[in-house]
Amino acid sequence: MTPVLYDMPASNNGARCRVIIYKKRLESDILIKPPSDLGGLKSEQYLALNPQGKMPLLVTEHGNIPESDTIARYLVDRFSSKAPSFIPSTLEARMRSDLLCRLHDMYITTIQGCMYNAEPPFGRFGSRAAALAELRQQLKHLLEHVDEAGPYLTGKELSLADATVFPTIIFIEHMLPKFIDGETWDPEAVLGKKMLRWYRWIQSDPSFKAVCKEITEALAGEEVNERWKNILHAGLRDNDAPTIFDRIIQRQIPSEVVMEDEDVLVFKDIHPQAPLHLLIIPKRRDGLTQLRFASADHQELLGKMLLTAGKIAKEQNLRGYRLVINDGSDAQQSVFHLHMHLLSGRQMRWPPG
Ligand code: AMP
Repeated sequence: MTPVLYDMPASNNGARCRVIIYKKRLESDILIKPPSDLGGLKSEQYLALNPQGKMPLLVTEHGNIPESDTIARYLVDRFSSKAPSFIPSTLEARMRSDLLCRLHDMYITTIQGCMYNAEPPFGRFGSRAAALAELRQQLKHLLEHVDEAGPYLTGKELSLADATVFPTIIFIEHMLPKFIDGETWDPEAVLGKKMLRWYRWIQSDPSFKAVCKEITEALAGEEVNERWKNILHAGLRDNDAPTIFDRIIQRQIPSEVVMEDEDVLVFKDIHPQAPLHLLIIPKRRDGLTQLRFASADHQELLGKMLLTAGKIAKEQNLRGYRLVINDGSDAQQSVFHLHMHLLSGRQMRWPPG
């Protein structure tokens, strides 16, 4: 049987397999099909082949392989007679290749969704910002193992590391700039000199260039579909004017601060409606002029605001208290920077006015 690779252009893990297929000229030895040929990733037919409902998937006479690194190594082994081998001739370069693939798969693949998925968590990270910071850190670790002289990642010869890392760097080049609000994108600062030189140089290879074209076209399609529009900073941006709360956060006007950490500020309301009237606000507004603009990216922050209220109530031994968020002018919202009122110290009435 002719093995079938179920894959889509935008999948960066599948892309490493496509680099190998194109480079070894296996187009007639391996069929590449989209999962939609079987009714999609969640169809009964596809799930029968890969119960995880994920791609890439290589269907062979030896079994179904639902994991890109194993597919890549299987292709390299099965078609070892076809150049290039993807296996460098020195032990050191082979070790570097294995290390780069493993570091990539363990520490980058597991969180790369922070560049394009709608919702956290990304691996062990509950916020996109934390996952993006970790991604940058892991790139630096990867860079430590890239060969000084090149031109390939592991030295003079092509290896699996080149096929593995390349598609991820395409995603990074296209998606990370979206998340640097207000800064200028500096690829050398993110990728490092060696990696950037390699990334530019390897695109002179027609097989790598073909994969790059497939991924960038797929990403451009997502742009047209407005896929990033609901993702904080990738499309969802806060361009509204600053409010008085920004000046309070920056200490440009005085306020009675009760508590502060890196995420939230708590201060006394200037027109108290109860003996204790506090405002709990996020220090970075990030689009939250009103609660209705909250996205999955804000989940952690919103949880933090509630936890902060509970913590203050406990610390101050409040017998009872009420939390209020006014959203919109009908609800009498007057400051368009998300805030939660904490009211206490008097008998509350119900229904509220
Ligand atoms: P809302 O009506 O829900 O938008 O609530 C805005 C709250 O911010 C009101 O209760 C105001 O009294 C309060 N506020 C406005 N300016 C200040 C300020 N400079 N310091 C403290 N609280 C303020």
